[in-house]
Amino acid sequence: MAKQDIAIIGAGQAGAALAVRLRQLGFLGGIALFGAEQAPPYQRPPLSKKYLAGEWEQERLWLRPTDFWREQRISLHLGGAVSALDLTSRTLVCGEREHRWGKLALTTGATPRPLPDTFVDRSNVFELRNLADVQRLRPAFLPGRKLLVLGGGYIGLETAAVATQAGLSVHVVERATRVLERVACPHTSVAIRALHQRHGVSIHEGRTLRHVEGDANVTAVELDTGLRIACDLVVVGVGVVPQTALAESAGLDCDDGILVDSFGRASVPDVWAAGDCARFRLNGELTRLESVQNAIDQAEAVADDMLGQGRIYQPVPWFWSDQYDMKLQIVGLNRGYDAVVSHVSAKGASHWYFREDRLISVDALNDGRAYMVGKKLLEAGRVVSRSEVERPNFEPMQLLRGQAEGTLT
Ligand SMILES: Cc1cc2nc3c(=O)[nH]c(=O)nc-3n(C[C@H](O)[C@H](O)[C@H](O)COP(=O)(O)OP(=O)(O)OC[C@H]3O[C@@H](n4cnc5c(N)ncnc54)[C@H](O)[C@@H]3O)c2cc1C
Repeated sequence: MAKQDIAIIGAGQAGAALAVRLRQLGFLGGIALFGAEQAPPYQRPPLSKKYLAGEWEQERLWLRPTDFWREQRISLHLGGAVSALDLTSRTLVCGEREHRWGKLALTTGATPRPLPDTFVDRSNVFELRNLADVQRLRPAFLPGRKLLVLGGGYIGLETAAVATQAGLSVHVVERATRVLERVACPHTSVAIRALHQRHGVSIHEGRTLRHVEGDANVTAVELDTGLRIACDLVVVGVGVVPQTALAESAGLDCDDGILVDSFGRASVPDVWAAGDCARFRLNGELTRLESVQNAIDQAEAVADDMLGQGRIYQPVPWFWSDQYDMKLQIVGLNRGYDAVVSHVSAKGASHWYFREDRLISVDALNDGRAYMVGKKLLEAGRVVSRSEVERPNFEPMQLLRGQAEGTLT
């Protein structure tokens, strides 16, 4: 039986960051990184952007050159899921082999919500989570084809943008009353909807499917309004659920994610979790983040804690999305917001979210300056009130100048 000092289950963004950080901190023991996918650790954001558009070669997705892992003595076990985990004997099973570990991290990520029944086993229905999904989808992205996108979140909208630019005609059907409803204020939704409509995408908000036509392939759908939409292919992007089955079967506490404390520690000693699969208390509320920022930063905090250098992980989350020539950047969490102040800048716009007269989040649309200022202020814990942002001739940089002049509260 192989013995690893540290085993990491899940070779994605978080798992890779954790392994790399352990070495950066000078850890010399054995590290094993287990990944269910064939590919070496890679970044997912380009899957619905430049890689889907055919602008990137596969190798550009790799988080590190393939030699890196061997040079760093991080053993990669790819192409097979860890199927069993025993927290008492400190063993795991991958393929035919059993491995012993001293410390363990789960970075198992998330997986698309199960497909609606009417889409199961249809050969022209695609999901978009893994490299293999995109490799299957890309050849179907042919000019003139009719694409139906189910879900008006980031993945659905980014897919719609790439498809339109590739010459497909696109319909997006969103059950909520507006696209990006779960993550953005109405102003941002309106801007993103208008952006897509300018590019010829038909957006159907607040709509559900009444009927699906076709046998092996979906050939058309009928909306609850009676509108019939013919399609050659369907991409379903209706959100993800954390991959917790292994953790649950091993007896770890889970509730919409593997429950961890602010050091990333799970409910059993010497076991941690990070990234999309982990749920932790952020600003007092149990939170699961699905972002590159969180995957990297939480994994690095876990590595520090594993080596006895623990520090509390309380991030100011940030996120981005690229659609056409629009870069949407979000910093902070807007949950519970009760006011939004909007500004138009030379090239874009920004929306500043307040809760009880305190800035909590900024959406910046082609406005890198507003994003950068918002990020600095939130990270510094600066209390910014609505009146500061509502001023006539508001200029985001003024807020930073105020900070430098000692108006930190
Ligand atoms: C198409 C797409 C676009 C995105 N765009 C953005 C973006 O623009 N900005 C942004 O911030 N975020 C974006 N995200 C989200 C971001 O990629 C994720 O938040 C991030 O990848 C999470 O990292 P992770 O390591 O927690 O999970 P993952 O990257 O999902 O990695 C988890 C890995 O664990 C493996 N695994 C699971 N169970 C087992 C097991 N039992 N044994 C072995 N391996 C296992 C999985 O196969 C997977 O490879 C995007 C995601 C997708 C899918």
